[in-house]
Amino acid sequence: MSEDNSPKTSLSELGEFGLIDHLTRFVELYQPSTLKGIGDDAAIIDHENFATVVTTDMLVEGVHFDLAYMPLKHLGYKAVMVNLSDIYAMNAEATQLTVSIAASNRFPVEALEELYAGITLAAKTYNVDVIGGDTTSSTSGLVISITALGKAEAEKITKRDGAQPNDLLVVTGDIGAAYMGLQVLEREKQVFKVNPNAQPDLEPYSYLVERQLKPEARKDISSLLAALEVQPTSMIDISDGLSSEIIHLCKNSKVGANLFEEKIPLDPAVISVCEEFNIDSTTIALNGGEDYELLFTVDQKDFDKIKGNPNFTIIGHMTEEREGMHLVTRGNQKIPMKAQGWNTFGDTNDE
Ligand SMILES: [Mg+2]
Repeated sequence: MSEDNSPKTSLSELGEFGLIDHLTRFVELYQPSTLKGIGDDAAIIDHENFATVVTTDMLVEGVHFDLAYMPLKHLGYKAVMVNLSDIYAMNAEATQLTVSIAASNRFPVEALEELYAGITLAAKTYNVDVIGGDTTSSTSGLVISITALGKAEAEKITKRDGAQPNDLLVVTGDIGAAYMGLQVLEREKQVFKVNPNAQPDLEPYSYLVERQLKPEARKDISSLLAALEVQPTSMIDISDGLSSEIIHLCKNSKVGANLFEEKIPLDPAVISVCEEFNIDSTTIALNGGEDYELLFTVDQKDFDKIKGNPNFTIIGHMTEEREGMHLVTRGNQKIPMKAQGWNTFGDTNDE
């Protein structure tokens, strides 16, 4: 909230109902399945013969975001992405959202308008309807809770529990950039504290910062897999870091896994900023988080359909459960996989 010359309207001037009307006045509907959106006691959705998937996520100021470097419009956009990513991780199409916001009086109406501008931009870009929600006051920070709904044919929905031994382990996009973007922003925040006149040069880090501040959920993957006639056996989105997501798939599917360090897709910007920060890039890929890429398994017979596709990287394969979960290093060492604490093994920094 650095735009000090902009007009400020206190939340109390509008009241709760006035605020809802004000914030939702630009909400449009895109989905034919939305029979009734905002404006009644409840919204009405008709998903006909499709199964409905539902997910919810809450973002809390000081826990999940820091307004010192997170613009409110980006925050609104990201809050939607976090939820859509979970819908896409079910191999489903996202269709509707509800948005609930708790804000203290230190946020003027204009600040919430910015937040809502990010939410409606995300809804438009991803063809999702905002169909309801709530606004209330908070005694301290800002809280945003979003619920997303989606639909898919029941047999197409992909859960975490279907992976089989010998299935290929596949990831979309590249990993680790969002976490390193956060490290860059944290560093600039500390520089700014010492010298408020310092002009941060974020240009060399633009990809990393964008992955942190404006992530994009993988809406494209479900239809891409359908076009390739690939039905994944299990799937999850990468919100917490590659290793904990692999562990989720293994535990739910009762299988083991071998992840090959040399196969992990890293953007060159991640590799160079890891060198600058003197951090091991494999550690970042495994434990970083907030990439919002998808991790899934496919049967070996689909190898030819997946290999060579620029959206996908085969990073390993599943094994029998008793074989356990391992990282196979560039030096061909097998290290048991843990959700946290890669550095304690100390031997993955052969970058
Ligand atoms: Mg998830």
